[in-house]
Order: sequence, then structure tokens, then C-alpha cells
Amino acid sequence: MGKRGKEMQTAVLAILRASDRPYSAYELLESLKDIYPKIAPPTVYRALAALTQRGQIRRLESLNAFISCQSQEHQQKSVISICGDCGLVAENFEPDIFSHLSWALEKTGFSAQRHMIEVNGICASCGPSQAIS
Ligand SMILES: [Zn+2]
Repeated sequence: MGKRGKEMQTAVLAILRASDRPYSAYELLESLKDIYPKIAPPTVYRALAALTQRGQIRRLESLNAFISCQSQEHQQKSVISICGDCGLVAENFEPDIFSHLSWALEKTGFSAQRHMIEVNGICASCGPSQAIS
């Protein structure tokens, strides 16, 4: 990877880290154009692919958008909650859910390789909290 590629990854990561809202590849491209007016889509896609592979960002499948990984332990599996009102995205670390899910699927002969759980709803600041304490 060239110096330019590394620089682009740093720029993408900085945008995502500064926001708790997901960005689509297109939105990232538009933001990066402020700094790099001649930036082309493949450059952004390459940066996104490299950052995703290293676990520094995550792709939200249901939104086709990206967030920065909020944990230092990037490989941790997490349940992603997405607020349909304000767009807040949070990672929730619930490892038991994943082991239980893998176990449940194994009974059907299915071998889980990658988990992606995204839950859409309303966050605590947007709605009355129904959390059980
Ligand atoms: Zn919200």
C-alpha cells in the first residue's frame, strides 16, 4: 500500500470517529472532497475495505453504511443497535448471544462463520426508556 492509501485510511477513520452516525461510501466521498477535491470512488472503497478488514470500522449491512469500531478489541462480536429516529448507532457487547446462536444453529447442521446482528429501534434519548434494570 502506498503512502496515499494510508493517508486516505486515516482520513476516513477520522471522519467516522468524529461521528456517532453511520456514513455511506458516497457520503464519505463527499466529505473527503473538501480535502482531496480530485478523489475518486475506488480510492474510498479501497480505504473502506482495508479498514473493515482490520476491524477498525464496521459495515452496517442494513444501512449499507460504515461506523468506526467503538471497542479497542476490534474482533469482538457485537450487537449493533440503530436508532430509527436520530440515527445513533451503538455497539453492544453480548458474547453470550453469539455463542448461544451458534449453538442453536449447529443443531440444524449449520456452521456459523460470521455473525452480524443489527437491531433497529429507538434509542434512550429519543424515546421513553423501557430498559429493565
Ligand atoms: Zn435516537
